[in-house]
Amino acid sequence: MKPTISFLLVLSIIFLLISCQKEPLLIGQKENAQWYKGNLHTHSLWSDGDDYPEMIMDWYKSQGYHFIGLSDHNILQEGEKWVRVPDNKIRRSVYEKYLKKFGEDWVESKEDTSGLMVKLKTLSEYRSKFEEEKRFLILKSEEITDGFDGKPIHLNATNLRELIAPQKGNSVVEVMQNNINAVLKQREETGQPMFPHINHPNFRWGISVEEMMQLKNERFFEVFNGHNMVNNYGDSTHIGTEEMWDRINHHFIKNNQELMLGLATDDSHHYHLLGPIYSNPGRAWVMVESEALSPESIIENLEAGNFYASTGVELEYFGLRYNEYSVKVKPEEGVNYQIQMIVWFDGDERATEMEAVPANSSSYSLTGKELFVRAKIISNKEKYNPFQKGDFEVAWTQPIVIQ
Ligand SMILES: [Zn+2]
Ligand SMILES: [Zn+2]
Repeated sequence: MKPTISFLLVLSIIFLLISCQKEPLLIGQKENAQWYKGNLHTHSLWSDGDDYPEMIMDWYKSQGYHFIGLSDHNILQEGEKWVRVPDNKIRRSVYEKYLKKFGEDWVESKEDTSGLMVKLKTLSEYRSKFEEEKRFLILKSEEITDGFDGKPIHLNATNLRELIAPQKGNSVVEVMQNNINAVLKQREETGQPMFPHINHPNFRWGISVEEMMQLKNERFFEVFNGHNMVNNYGDSTHIGTEEMWDRINHHFIKNNQELMLGLATDDSHHYHLLGPIYSNPGRAWVMVESEALSPESIIENLEAGNFYASTGVELEYFGLRYNEYSVKVKPEEGVNYQIQMIVWFDGDERATEMEAVPANSSSYSLTGKELFVRAKIISNKEKYNPFQKGDFEVAWTQPIVIQ
């Protein structure tokens, strides 16, 4: 049968419609957005970090970071706080460096019977020295430092307004949940976007995967923390944080909860001595695709999963389009990459790590049996001053639920 004119016309209209339809964008492909680099977990002399907040902000800004959450233990950088400069060579030179960089007009110090004292600058005093539109943003943060039965239970609160005292509770789960609820309550009362995240669950084996599975309304945890004592990779009797991540998400999907997203942070305390026994800056961060460098836009995109965690590997984009989960690396000259898809198939008891593909980009075609998919990108570039000796630079994309 010969095709009629009208049949051909319909065909060409369909063809035109299909070709005009825009391809759905992957994370990293939005035209009016860009990648912003940030570390959400940092300490200063306001608690147990060993440098002045201005020096820390100066370091992160000069290293190309766009946003920082300076999250000291149970304290906001407000009010009057004096710290003694201990009479040792390193701390004395830290003070000298601070004085040299910011000048006598800025640095406030006094000598008393206990020695040299320095008044720490508050966030509202120092933030305007560093913040710059589209370039650098400071998020008011706190590490709510709680515990139960000798176990450390730490949660960061990012972009909060008022200090949150540790809420305590009668179990590890209750302590976590009470602190999560306190952050979410402040968010509701103030209308200001802010979020809690669970820190380093394997620090002194404080929080188990079963305990995190019981949480409600918790969207983030640290799949990687650069502090030297946090056991990211587990040990012979404890699972690592990546396995925790998948198991939590399997449980959350089965219980119709939103996915837990994985952050990477420095948890930096030591800014002068570098090495495996110190928690140094520059070990891990997040890259967020955001329309603006504002707390609102950064948090909205974090909550939407428009970010990846990294210890060095940069990505151009990742995400799900039609039935393909794709990743594309922004390759560094002379560095090779392996892309591994991690898939949880419905009915399985654990995630399947697909064979790593040596390439700068890779796709996984859905079979219809997946619950969620994520990717891990491992480079052959050794990490400078790593969390653990022999670590290579890595990136983790956020998991995507397969409906
Ligand atoms: Zn901590
Ligand atoms: Zn910390």
